[in-house]
Amino acid sequence: MGVRTPPFLFSNSPVGALLYGSLGRSLSNIWLEAVPRDLKQSTSVAIIGGGIIGASVGYNLAVSGVKDVVMLERSKAGAGSTSASLGGFRHQFSSELSVRLSQRSVSIIERFEELTGYDPLVSHDGYVFIASTEPSFNQLKKNRDLQRGLGVRVELLSKEELQDRYRFYSFDGILGGTLCEEDGHASTMAVFQGYVSKAKQLGIELWEDTEVVAVDRKKPNGFLLKTSKGTLAADSVVIAAGAYSGLVGQLVPVDIQIKPYPRKILVTKSFSDGIPLHIPLMIDVDSTFAFGREGKGLIFANNQATASSFELVFPPNYDDIVIQEAVRRVPATEHCSLSYANVGLYEMTPDSNPIVCEIPDVEGLYCCSGFAGHGFMHSPAIGELTADLITKGRTSLDISSYHIERFGKGPTDKEKLII
Ligand SMILES: Cc1cc2nc3c(=O)[nH]c(=O)nc-3n(C[C@H](O)[C@H](O)[C@H](O)COP(=O)(O)OP(=O)(O)OC[C@H]3O[C@@H](n4cnc5c(N)ncnc54)[C@H](O)[C@@H]3O)c2cc1C
Repeated sequence: MGVRTPPFLFSNSPVGALLYGSLGRSLSNIWLEAVPRDLKQSTSVAIIGGGIIGASVGYNLAVSGVKDVVMLERSKAGAGSTSASLGGFRHQFSSELSVRLSQRSVSIIERFEELTGYDPLVSHDGYVFIASTEPSFNQLKKNRDLQRGLGVRVELLSKEELQDRYRFYSFDGILGGTLCEEDGHASTMAVFQGYVSKAKQLGIELWEDTEVVAVDRKKPNGFLLKTSKGTLAADSVVIAAGAYSGLVGQLVPVDIQIKPYPRKILVTKSFSDGIPLHIPLMIDVDSTFAFGREGKGLIFANNQATASSFELVFPPNYDDIVIQEAVRRVPATEHCSLSYANVGLYEMTPDSNPIVCEIPDVEGLYCCSGFAGHGFMHSPAIGELTADLITKGRTSLDISSYHIERFGKGPTDKEKLII
């Protein structure tokens, strides 16, 4: 094993969280005025959670004319899972709705600078999914048919075609794969800042360091939120607390089936050695090994199941397994050095699809969470649709399959491409 691992960086501690936590803190300085001096006592909509989802919902509410909105963040805005996002976006999903959300979101990201003044730094380097077993390859073909039917340009590539295009990667044992060059990545923080800044310009308030600790229902409707900064009455409440949404649900109480799963991505120092600067993110759907670029460095990861936990702990051999697979697939990586780990929580529902709906029997309470590792890429469309749901009671795209009522009624349609 030639990859040099700085021991202080790759212990089983939440290093990435510390790094990214501090990023979240420094970013929040940009919004130093975030917590108003005189807190208001009531609002039309309260959003619990100041991540990319809460920010997009807040922005879209403001754009649709609802400006009396408070976004409550117990820590610093963007310091949750949002700070760990690599900004990847893809159209390659197994369900129609996920593909449609990507199409709509990517078109918003393409216009993002015009909308908010923030350049999202989009790059279309593509995603490649590869398979080494017949069932997985068949599923990729099925996905490709669905995606093409929806107008996405996805190619099916044989092992030989893959090898010819990506000579740095060993496709030993791989049957073939799919490539979508419309996939790519953008800057999560640019998009996040764009949403927050524009929402604030439009009149939305962001209260940082404000934890919601109790949610009481008012009669005949509305809510009383008890927070670490006092009490706030709200006509409607949106739970956008990412991996913590289940816990926030318990405050009402409602059962929101979202669990936290720690994820870790190893990032190397700047490295070339024959590996182009612009390569697709390559994901092996059987081993779950993912390989791509983060700036001039490389990223390696897998998403082999870890136990659900709010603690950012990983199996002790996680790094070794991932590094061994990196060296097997991309032999040149034997000479690279690791730089840091990017860690955070995935917010998972039982079928890896989000919960976006008004909660039954609790009028005015909405959930918008559970994005299973693709919350950044779907945040633009989901923010629009959630704002529609709140302001009009209907959405321009059918998202009824994301209703919480789907659980407890037998098997649901699981998203199969989770990375
Ligand atoms: C390692 C990693 C890489 C990823 N890469 C990508 C990627 O490339 N592309 C992509 O699309 N997605 C990616 N994701 C997923 C993406 O980051 C998440 O889906 C997204 O950030 C979820 O946003 P959120 O706003 O729902 O949650 P969060 O960003 O976690 O925000 C929720 C906020 O709620 C706050 N909160 C919780 N409880 C309370 C309370 N009681 N009161 C007040 N506030 C509260 C939290 O402090 C937190 O800031 C990645 C995730 C990880 C972990």
